[in-house]
Amino acid sequence: MGGIADLSAEDLRALRDRVRGEYDLFRGRGLQIDMTRGKPSPEQLDLASGMLALPGNGDHFTEAGEDARNYGGLQGLPEVRALFAPMMGAPAERIVVGDNSSLALMHDCLAWSLFKGVSSEMDPWSQQSGTPAFICAVPGYDRHFAICEEYGIRMLPVPLTGHGPDMDMVEELAADPDVKGMWCVPKYSNPSGEVYSTEVIERLAAMRTGAPDFRLFWDNAYAVHHLTPQRHEIANILELCEQAGNPDRAFVFASTSKVTLAGAGLALFASSAANVKWYLARAGKRTIGPDKLNQIRHVRFLRNIEGLHQHMEAHRALIEPKFDAVIGALEKRLSGTGVARWTKPEGGYFICVDGMDGTAKQIVDLARQAGVVLTPAGATSPYGRDPHDRTLRLAPTYPSLREVEQASEGIALCILLAALEKHIDAPLAHNA
Ligand code: PLP
Repeated sequence: MGGIADLSAEDLRALRDRVRGEYDLFRGRGLQIDMTRGKPSPEQLDLASGMLALPGNGDHFTEAGEDARNYGGLQGLPEVRALFAPMMGAPAERIVVGDNSSLALMHDCLAWSLFKGVSSEMDPWSQQSGTPAFICAVPGYDRHFAICEEYGIRMLPVPLTGHGPDMDMVEELAADPDVKGMWCVPKYSNPSGEVYSTEVIERLAAMRTGAPDFRLFWDNAYAVHHLTPQRHEIANILELCEQAGNPDRAFVFASTSKVTLAGAGLALFASSAANVKWYLARAGKRTIGPDKLNQIRHVRFLRNIEGLHQHMEAHRALIEPKFDAVIGALEKRLSGTGVARWTKPEGGYFICVDGMDGTAKQIVDLARQAGVVLTPAGATSPYGRDPHDRTLRLAPTYPSLREVEQASEGIALCILLAALEKHIDAPLAHNA
């Protein structure tokens, strides 16, 4: 099919009527498919079912001979920190292992910075003169934005470029002393799938910030979640910050939520020695120690970093066909129409689709009426407001492959129908 902007008014209406007919048939199928959240499927969770029998009766001693059933061990077991050191890009002594949610660690770091300050030399963000603000790469992760909203932190959107945020904009905004931090998902970003380039990471590490207590919230949630044989690597933010004379700038986060079990994984934090000390001093007020049996369970199951990569290959075998199904359906129905563009991620959990401006809400609504639930339009922008009303986040991992195939066919149809209706109402310039 050619671009819809080239069609005569008559052809456009005929096409809209045909597509509407197809949509009505699709709606009549009575599907019920949820494509909203990036959750592992039951089959992915089954890959880790061997963990449920671990560490096993009597196997509760750490490598140092300590009893993991008891209190203590705030920083996490050394053997677990060593296992994840290559993934975190930090030596074991600069890693902390928490309980099951890295989002909780991000929340804590932000709340502590706000109420306690990032170090004993700095006032808490909340007690400084201006209103603290965060730079938010967009499209981004809605739960990051929700934490900022929860605590009244202003959000400053910066567009992603395909290899990281627009750094000219970031550098300009970061010069403001009220700008205290930035959310980054540097690898297989949620939802654009992009991988930050070395140049972007170097600039983030070295840029001048107006606030001496500025922190990068470096959420490497998809560090080992590859969708192709290429295991993309990114530059080491902690090393680059140190080399640039900003050793305490980055808080690095990751977890095994999408490696082992989403509700019972391990959350990880890595940073400078000073920041780890700061973190542990705060964390020690909140807990006497993490679940170390789960830590032992993870070491027994994954064994080492190669074991972890092998396990991720098994995930890939399950989810790659689902990503292919979405992209195949979009290509089949929408290539050349000029109504949408979409990402082809090489890792992570999402596909990001930009429909025609002003159609995202309608697409989500059309899909909902046909039984396919999509993430609300706007969710990938701060305050839930997509100024272009065009970005959709598709999460293909949880439904079955058959469901993903059916849903994708319908989503492509909804994107086309919404664009045709919009175009008939308000014709766009050629190739808009
Ligand atoms: N960070 C990003 C970018 C995510 O996409 C997700 C989950 O979708 C999380 C964090 C949640 O991590 P956790 O399960 O470790 O709390």
